[in-house]
Amino acid sequence: MAKNRTAVVAGGGIAGFAAAAALVRHGFDVTVYEESEEPREFGAGIYLKENSLQVLDELGVAERLITGGVRLRAVRIVDETGKTIVSRATHEERLIVALRADLHTALRDAALDGGAELVTRRRVVDATPEGTLRFDNGDEVTADLVVGADGVHSRVRESLGLTRMNALLGDGATRVLIPREEEPYSTEYWSGQHRVGIAPCSEDLTYAFIIGPEREARARRLPLDREYWTELFPHLAGVFARVADDAGVHHAHPFVYCQSWVSGRVAIVGDAAHAQPPNFGQGAGLAIAAAWELAEVLDNARDIDRGLVRWEKQARPRVNMVQRLTTAYDIAGYMWPPAFAGVRSQLFQTISAIPATAQKWEYYWRGGMDRPTPELTTGTAR
Ligand SMILES: Cc1cc2nc3c(=O)[nH]c(=O)nc-3n(C[C@H](O)[C@H](O)[C@H](O)COP(=O)(O)OP(=O)(O)OC[C@H]3O[C@@H](n4cnc5c(N)ncnc54)[C@H](O)[C@@H]3O)c2cc1C
Repeated sequence: MAKNRTAVVAGGGIAGFAAAAALVRHGFDVTVYEESEEPREFGAGIYLKENSLQVLDELGVAERLITGGVRLRAVRIVDETGKTIVSRATHEERLIVALRADLHTALRDAALDGGAELVTRRRVVDATPEGTLRFDNGDEVTADLVVGADGVHSRVRESLGLTRMNALLGDGATRVLIPREEEPYSTEYWSGQHRVGIAPCSEDLTYAFIIGPEREARARRLPLDREYWTELFPHLAGVFARVADDAGVHHAHPFVYCQSWVSGRVAIVGDAAHAQPPNFGQGAGLAIAAAWELAEVLDNARDIDRGLVRWEKQARPRVNMVQRLTTAYDIAGYMWPPAFAGVRSQLFQTISAIPATAQKWEYYWRGGMDRPTPELTTGTAR
């Protein structure tokens, strides 16, 4: 065990608390610095797959997320003609949709119960490779390890010159929670350059993500423009009718690619390192899995700098691949000419009918980690 080593984490989001929870369990003294008064997640759902669930198992919080969330029986894609072009049963694996706020609280509890300290209203302005975090009031702290988990606009990443690309893609999602009427299936509906995904995420709530090109003002509008979306998806009128006027957040899909995730004693994790469009439901999953690996690698490393280099070498290739595929999927969503939508459906059907390509796709959809599902004792599909 790495004893008496210190770590400071910039950012109290999902990635920051996942890193803090993993590091305290591997012998680090950890302090999380968060700029807001009270770190929190807004109301929407989040998909959890085996790569993050096994870390959540280790942290002792998987059970409560599985019990509070919904274990899906199948995932499907339905195109504009009403044809199901991809359908996969998931009742024998753990594919959970939970509330984002519940995941955030679970990770925060795991970090703080494990002994991490949280300091709020501390805005990080930069970091140094020697292991110093500096704040906007002029204060600074130094530790054996600095973790930059400060999101898409990461000051830690920017100050160390690690950014290669930080861009917004041409589409965006409105995410809402609505009263639940759905069975435990996740379905993504396509209509030209627009998509709507629906999955129940608790006993009484359904998560809907409503995606369109950012260039269309009506696609971005909040409150949700029900008339506009109903014209595109007439069969989902009942879903849009359940969206309250004050519900929902809208974000353009982000994309962050780094020269490196590491500089000296600093590592960056989560959206700071690899923000990506949400199609594989893996941004947070990858962050949680990589944060656990970071702590494991450092536990066995004689020095932090070399351990971090090894961690990046181990974790990054699969994250890069997931990011590439989910971005390609995104572009196929909002740039595909609607007149050739049938070709797109055919392409997806072909990919999912060839076992080798379907398996590869599936592997990265799960985060690029082949972790067998443990015996299913909880989370009866409901
Ligand atoms: C539409 C959509 C759907 C998604 N669905 C899924 C899904 O189903 N499954 C999945 O795994 N992932 C999903 N994701 C991705 C996932 O939401 C993100 O990858 C994840 O939330 C990123 O967490 P983070 O902690 O890295 O960043 P953030 O959530 O941005 O957290 C960063 C934290 O750092 C703080 N901070 C920022 N700057 C500073 C500073 N200078 N000083 C101090 N603190 C600072 C912020 O206040 C915040 O608390 C989705 C993303 C989108 C956009």
